[in-house]
Amino acid sequence: MTVVSMGIPTVRFDAASLAGRPETDLLVDRFGRVARDLRVSITEKCSLRCTYCMPEEGLPAIAAEDLLSADEIVRVVGIGVERVGIREVRFTGGEPLMRSDLEKIIAGCAARVPGIPLAMTTNAVGLEHRAAKLAAAGLTRVNVSLDSVDRAHFAELTRRDRLPSVLAGIRAAAVAGLAPLKVNAVLMRETLHGAADLLQWCLDAGVELRFIEQMPLDADHAWARENMVTAAELLSVLSERFELAAIGREDPSAPAEEWRVNGTEMTVGIIASVTRSFCSDCDRTRMTAEGTIRSCLFSDREVDLRAALRAGASDDELADLWRGAMWNKWAGHGIDAADFVPPERSMGAIGG
Ligand code: SAM
Ligand code: SF4
Repeated sequence: MTVVSMGIPTVRFDAASLAGRPETDLLVDRFGRVARDLRVSITEKCSLRCTYCMPEEGLPAIAAEDLLSADEIVRVVGIGVERVGIREVRFTGGEPLMRSDLEKIIAGCAARVPGIPLAMTTNAVGLEHRAAKLAAAGLTRVNVSLDSVDRAHFAELTRRDRLPSVLAGIRAAAVAGLAPLKVNAVLMRETLHGAADLLQWCLDAGVELRFIEQMPLDADHAWARENMVTAAELLSVLSERFELAAIGREDPSAPAEEWRVNGTEMTVGIIASVTRSFCSDCDRTRMTAEGTIRSCLFSDREVDLRAALRAGASDDELADLWRGAMWNKWAGHGIDAADFVPPERSMGAIGG
C-alpha cells in the first residue's frame, strides 16, 4: 500500500487480488454483484461550493499532469465497454463543464463505444452555451443538480449566486434534446421547507425530480446522522401539498424509489442512500479524475489505472486491474455501523 501526494490524500493498492474470482470478463464482486454502470470523474474543479460537498475554498488543485487526458479517458471507457461489460457511462466531477475539452472527451467516447449511453451529472452553470455542442458530440442525457429555486437560498447553499445560469442551462439542455432530463436535489434541513416549491417547478418544467438523502461525504465533515433529513420526513412534507402514490423502483439496481404525483404521469423519486440503502444491488464502478478505480463511494481502497496505463500496460492488463478492484468491493457503505469512518475523499473529489 502506498500513499501518494497529489493534493488529495489517497490510500492506494498497486494491484488487487483476483484470488477466488470466477472466470468471467465482467466486473463481478464477492457478493455476486456485477458492475455495469461507470462513473467517470474528469475534474476536481467546480463553479459552485455546495456546503454538503465542497469546502469553501474548493478542493486542492490536481496538477495538470495528474489528470487523465481526454485520450486516456477515451481509452479507459473503451476498455470498460469492450472488455469488462460496462453498459452506461456517466461523466461527473467536480463539475464536468469546468473542462474545456469535455466536447472532445464525449466525441471520442461516442466514436469508440457507439450505442452506449453517455450521460453527465452537472450543476448546469454555463450549460446554456454548450448544451447543443455536447449533444452534437454524442452526449445523450444530463442530470442537473438543483436544490432550490429560491435565488437567495440557492446562493446560500452553493455559496454562489448562479441560479439564473442553472435555469438557463436546464432550458438549453431540453432544447438540445438531452433527454430524459432529471433534476437531483440533496435533502437537507435547510432545504426541506422549499422542497414542495422545487417539485412544483419541476412539474411545470416537465423534468423529473429526485431527492437524494445527504451522505457523509461533505469535505467539512458536518454531516450528522441525527440531523439528516430522511426520505420518510420528506414524504410527509410533500404530502401536505401533493397526492403521492408509490410505484416502487424501475428495476432493482435503480437507486430511486418513485411516486406518481397528483394522479398524473409525472413522478418524484427519492434516493434513500442512507435509510433504505441499495448497496446489495449496486452496479456502479467509479474512476476518479486521477485515474484510480474506486469500487464504492465509501471505500478509500483505489486501484491506480493511470500509473499502469502510463507505464505501458496493455488493454488486457488494465482490464485485469479493474476486475481486481471490483472483486474486492465491500458489501455496503456501513454508515449506520458504530465504527463507521467517512472516506478521505469528499463527494466532489470522488465523482458522485
Ligand atoms: N458538479 C456536478 C453536480 O453537482 O451535479 C457533478 C458532481 S456532484 C459531486 C454529483 C452529485 O453528488 C450531485 O448530484 C450532488 O448533489 C451529489 N452530492 C454531493 N455531495 C453529496 C452528499 N454529501 N450527499 C449526497 N449527494 C451528494
Ligand atoms: Fe460542485 Fe457538484 Fe459538489 Fe456542488 S455537488 S460543489 S456543484 S461538485
